[in-house]
Amino acid sequence: DSNLSLLIQAFPYGEKRHLLLIQDVTDLQKADAMRRDFVANVSHEMRTPITVLMGFLETVQSIELDKSQQDHYFDLMMLQAQRMKSLVEDLLTLANLEANAIPASTQVVQLNTLMALIKNDAEALSQGSHGFSFEQKTTQNLFGDERELLSAFSNLVSNAIRYTPNGGSITARWGLNEQGQGEFSVTDTGPGIASEHLPRLTERFYRVDRSRSRDTGGTGLGLAIVKHIANRHQAQLLIESTPGKGSTFTLRFPKDRVANTETDLFSAIQ
Ligand code: ADP
Repeated sequence: DSNLSLLIQAFPYGEKRHLLLIQDVTDLQKADAMRRDFVANVSHEMRTPITVLMGFLETVQSIELDKSQQDHYFDLMMLQAQRMKSLVEDLLTLANLEANAIPASTQVVQLNTLMALIKNDAEALSQGSHGFSFEQKTTQNLFGDERELLSAFSNLVSNAIRYTPNGGSITARWGLNEQGQGEFSVTDTGPGIASEHLPRLTERFYRVDRSRSRDTGGTGLGLAIVKHIANRHQAQLLIESTPGKGSTFTLRFPKDRVANTETDLFSAIQ
């Protein structure tokens, strides 16, 4: 039985009793290998912006630059510093989510508020380069943790913006499906993702196209964070994508996470 991690057999042998201990260490070894990979990945991800930053610093130190050239280098350095900051922030978010043994809160999260916040962020991030549609198909809300849900929804919207070329369109939608489950989805008209990548997309630092992800300022941790938050809310993350056409990322929440607006909101206020 591969699920059996510890198998103990005791059997008599003449006068003495022997204890045979067989431990299946496959899971432990896997966990250890994953930890080592993770540390190697983090080191690599940190080293890149540091190396680039040092390169720019050397240039500024060794070459006589006029004011506009200097400003140009400072902007480039700021970009690298921001990359490191995002990486550290995402790592902390992930570590906090993993360390958090307390189940996600079950307070009523108002989708009106959440959608308004996401819309603001999306417009600030895209600066007019994409078309947006924010659709709220139901007045029902969600039981959950507002900060976590905002982080998950924003991650999906920010991915859609970052991977969809300028001029593309993005739709964020909140509604109920036929089974009464809550669904938050983000559809984009971006490059899409080939099916062989889909199963690995939520792994930390997994990227379909490394250089493109770097260009867009991604840390490689966004979908790992989304997946964690989904798990904490018993939600599924569904990804549908057609290369060349676009993608839809959906978070599907179980029925008992859907808050019946009038009654539940009333009891939450009380
Ligand atoms: P990153 O910081 O690299 O964006 P994520 O974990 O958010 O990391 O996403 C993992 C990978 O999934 C990305 O590098 C990208 O290749 C792919 N991806 C995510 N969202 C989209 C999208 N909307 N369209 C196309 N590819 C996407």
